[in-house]
Amino acid sequence: MLVQEEVYTENAEKNPILALINKQKAFFAKNNTKDVETRLKTLSKLRKSIENNEQEIYEALHQDFRKPAFEAYATEIAMILDEIDFIAKELKSWARTRNVSGSLLNFPSQNYIIPEPLGVCLIIGAWNYPLQLTLSPLVGAIAAGNCAIVKPSELASATADVVEKIITETFEKEYVAVVKGGVDVNQALLKEKFDKIFFTGSTAVGKIVMRAAAEHLTPVTLELGGKSPCIVTEDADLDLAAKRIVWGKFLNGGQTCVAPDYIMAHKNIRSLLIVKLGKYITEFYGENPQESPDFPRIINDRHFERLSKYLAPTANSGTIVIGGKTDIVGRYIAPTVLDKVSWEDEVMQDEIFGPILPVLEYDNEDEMIAILKSKPKPLALYLFADNEKLEKKVLDNLSFGGACINDTISHFINPHLPFGGVGDSGMGAYHGKGSFDAFTHYKGVMKKANWLDIPLRYAPYLGKLSIIKQAFKWKP
Ligand code: NAD
Repeated sequence: MLVQEEVYTENAEKNPILALINKQKAFFAKNNTKDVETRLKTLSKLRKSIENNEQEIYEALHQDFRKPAFEAYATEIAMILDEIDFIAKELKSWARTRNVSGSLLNFPSQNYIIPEPLGVCLIIGAWNYPLQLTLSPLVGAIAAGNCAIVKPSELASATADVVEKIITETFEKEYVAVVKGGVDVNQALLKEKFDKIFFTGSTAVGKIVMRAAAEHLTPVTLELGGKSPCIVTEDADLDLAAKRIVWGKFLNGGQTCVAPDYIMAHKNIRSLLIVKLGKYITEFYGENPQESPDFPRIINDRHFERLSKYLAPTANSGTIVIGGKTDIVGRYIAPTVLDKVSWEDEVMQDEIFGPILPVLEYDNEDEMIAILKSKPKPLALYLFADNEKLEKKVLDNLSFGGACINDTISHFINPHLPFGGVGDSGMGAYHGKGSFDAFTHYKGVMKKANWLDIPLRYAPYLGKLSIIKQAFKWKP
């Protein structure tokens, strides 16, 4: 009879991806990843490797799209280190078996929940935060006791090389491996059976991933995108709103999944808000943002062309009131604000994912909420207001992945808040305990005692109906 490892290698000789998955399955089957102390040691090793490669990370992110070192640290490196520290502190308590109450119908019994790793997981990352979006889910996968194959985006290729270096330094391939490549490689990976797929990317590719996962009934977490609205009311602190919107929109050159995609401004403050947006764009990036070392570039020519179309003289996308300059050399698009935009305009049809900020106007808050309710559920929602009644109305009536009141993006960095989309913006969540849960199956177990066997449940049922009704009503 073949041992498990030999079965795994039998069909894999001509398929390196399958061979790798099978090696990981064998490694996982030997319980190499499950011991909690091993998980903690591994996380600490990963932490050290990230710290040791700090300079390479800065260089790679700069090479990929001129991401400034400050943003590279704050939005990529620090996010992962924080996630490791937060999870490491809680891991022993999350990973332990928990006793829960029994019920009268199960009396006498012990009942408990065993958190179990899912097995071999596939993590597919997007290019816009190429380090964080691959390593942060990996932290969850390792903490939960899994093996993983990480597929970084081919669009941020220099950072993909550093991700590979960090992972190779930290793990044996049987535990965690990196597979690099483009769409064809992703398609080859998606043909195989994983125990979990964690995907970050566009809604369109999310559907492809979910279709492929359905073939194997593989559970998925889909971290997708969408058009995240930013509402600014009449009573908002306009100056602070403008400052925080400019920060959240133009960070990473607008290439952030939770960036405010567009503004819905009350008609009485729209013009003043635009003036203040202009003030902060200049304050942050200077008179000529092309010369600013703090303003990143568009990731590739395809995305540059896509975004430039919104700014072409023939475009149906409102009026450029701030910025608008594009330069294919270095793929520069200026921080841009569009006024007089309507829902029918091209720029309002898809997620912008670049440094272009349309401003729409509303008059009546009920109408504004009704319009937003008719749109696909976004990944984030931002509300700038000093009006608790409206705040409650917005939160009660609209569905979205997560929100900030009087800020943008910052909810993403709190490990106590689950991060994920809903509807078109995704399914499942991670960060903090959510990351552990995303890669864990909770086994519910009941251990029945033998010293008593209540005969109520067994046929014949004659005369037992009223007793079973009472038994179901009784709560300990
Ligand atoms: P994308 O969907 O084009 O690519 C993501 C990954 O899918 C890449 O690794 C790529 O190789 C792969 N891929 C692309 N086309 C494929 C296909 N046809 N078949 C199989 N695999 C394929 O996304 P992107 O351009 O890398 O990232 C931008 C999108 O990601 C935006 O919509 C953004 O909002 C979203 N995003 C979401 C989050 C989040 O946390 N929710 C974070 C970052 C980005």
